[in-house]
Amino acid sequence: MASSNEKAIRTICGFCHNNCGLLAYVSNGVLRRVKGDPDHPANRGDICPKGTAAAKVVYSPDRLKHPLRRTNSGFKQISWEEALDITATRLLEIREKHGGETLIRCNGAPVTQTAWDAFVQLMAAYGSTNFTGSGHICHIPRDIAFGTVYGSMTKPDYKNTRCMVMWGSNPSDSRDYGGAHGRFTRLIPEAKRRGAKLIVIDPRHTNLANIADKWLTIEPGRDDALALAMLNVIVKEGLYDKEFVTQWTIGFEELAEHVERFTPEWAQGITKLRASDIREVARTYATTRPAIIMAGNGLDQYPNVVQTIRAIGILCAITGNLDIEGGNVFLSKPALSPLVSHPSGIKRLSADRYPLYPWVPFPCFVDAMLNGEPYTPKAMLVYHANPALINADSTKTKQALEKLEFLVVCDIFKSATAEMADIILPEASEFEQYGFQCYASVEGGFVALRPKVIEPIGESRPVFEMEYDLATRMGLNAAYPWTNTEELINYRLKACGITVDDLKKQPVIYTTPPLEYRKYLKHGFETPSGKVEIYSQELKDYGYPPLPEFKDLDASLAGETASPDDYPLIGTTRRPGVYVHTRFRNISALRRLEPEPLARLNPEDAQNRKTGDGDLVAVQSPNGMIKVRAKVTDEVSPGVVIIDFGWGNPWDQGPNVNILTSDNDRDPISCSTPNRRFRCQVTKVNS
Ligand code: SF4
Repeated sequence: MASSNEKAIRTICGFCHNNCGLLAYVSNGVLRRVKGDPDHPANRGDICPKGTAAAKVVYSPDRLKHPLRRTNSGFKQISWEEALDITATRLLEIREKHGGETLIRCNGAPVTQTAWDAFVQLMAAYGSTNFTGSGHICHIPRDIAFGTVYGSMTKPDYKNTRCMVMWGSNPSDSRDYGGAHGRFTRLIPEAKRRGAKLIVIDPRHTNLANIADKWLTIEPGRDDALALAMLNVIVKEGLYDKEFVTQWTIGFEELAEHVERFTPEWAQGITKLRASDIREVARTYATTRPAIIMAGNGLDQYPNVVQTIRAIGILCAITGNLDIEGGNVFLSKPALSPLVSHPSGIKRLSADRYPLYPWVPFPCFVDAMLNGEPYTPKAMLVYHANPALINADSTKTKQALEKLEFLVVCDIFKSATAEMADIILPEASEFEQYGFQCYASVEGGFVALRPKVIEPIGESRPVFEMEYDLATRMGLNAAYPWTNTEELINYRLKACGITVDDLKKQPVIYTTPPLEYRKYLKHGFETPSGKVEIYSQELKDYGYPPLPEFKDLDASLAGETASPDDYPLIGTTRRPGVYVHTRFRNISALRRLEPEPLARLNPEDAQNRKTGDGDLVAVQSPNGMIKVRAKVTDEVSPGVVIIDFGWGNPWDQGPNVNILTSDNDRDPISCSTPNRRFRCQVTKVNS
């Protein structure tokens, strides 16, 4: 029952990229519950079970409440003074001995602005440009790919479209959880009710596939073949927008010649889709205008991802669906004042190998640790990240992390990575510190404030406070034109012409105008030529194929020591939407919804292995083996096994799927690794 002095505070959930508006109900300094904020433009009152469980997260007994130091007999509680003194001393020693560039900052999915900004200024003052994280298996391959075709990523204009192609994207599961909550759960069926067609391209029969007009059960990682075959159909049958292609693209003639060989008949053996289905989907997409393609994170974790996404971007462009009402549109976010320019004269670790990658792809950090080339990193600052679990080949990743001289982890829970740390710094949760968030929307780019709702739990602290204290101890605080979180936010918002005080009075402020279609008519596209670059001279200059290519993943597997015959199944992963990556399996309200990880097997494959629902199975790949319960379901095609991702933290002790994956075969442009495609065998474990 609500207490009489309960107060509702408008804030923002910081658990995932949606950053939904919340009403946080607080009494006597305690967060009691949250509700979706009906006035917040991002979610209009909808929230998912993760957001609903906010108070359970905040008051979880697993929260890190004190700084910890690793000792021979385990972790020992220490004071903040001690934790920051040790960290400052060790980092200064390492800089003195090995150079500033040997410090790496690793952050997780940067779901909040706070996560983008944490320790950036410190790194520059220290003398390192080596930022790493999960970008190579998250958004960076798509950023690079769309950047080379038409300047930047686009968003689907769901509200005005007549055809939706959800490609490796399942937002009603991954964001809204289970299709039972949230804006995507409404947006997509609403569009369907208006008569829009829905095409789902996914190896798994998702909730969206349930309501789709067409579900293409593609074999994991074969999206390049499908996209190229769709281009073949559209070009050959003249289904493209001739006026747009003539006036606004470069390289269409070369593309037409290039895709001639990628027929649907060629693609069917590779994708395990029927040629007639590929033709039908290509024709439907090209002729039902306006249409959108939502290219999701399901496409990111393969070793030909940039060329795959380039082919998808070209599909959007040549069908005339780019920057139009109901198509793929460019939304602008509020621009912020930059934190700091990178220290001059210092090259990032992988700049020569991956020149288009803005940071350091995590596998390049692993290489450098294990091979010492071009130099060996010595220290890492991990902020809200769990590299030990999320990267391909966890065994190798852990070897690399173990070789660090000094590892500091800053988090709210003790993750698998924190278990390896020398020092653990407990951070205040999103509800216990100030922050802000920038959003892009059809109505315009806007900024919202994330006020502090309650005092930090235990001795946990806001991240900027600990960063600034650390910088002060290291004699680097002169590099900061601000001394507290509010001043930092004011600095960042200067470019928008607003302040924290403005946001306190008006929690949501629009700073860019509403979406305008066909902006290219005025300004061209944000590419070197100002046009859609089907043929990318930029890629060619870097030594990459200028037109989207197909990569035979089985041929690259031949380099593995074990024969693919021993591993007849294609393994892929599923990210359970009730959790955020590897987080929150320790929250019982969420764990009840998905109590354990599963390996989903087709009935035919299960029968061949004499395996039934709930049986414990061993999944063996050339890289390793895990044991997991089987779920027998025709959600998945014969020959494919889908394993839940994100388990393996101390509180769940679940099987980590990345024991099975390998980082050997990488995307040559983005360094993306095949976390979503690996060869494996499944056998029943006799108990
Ligand atoms: S976790 Fe849920 S409530 Fe929180 S931002 Fe994401 S979708 Fe919204």
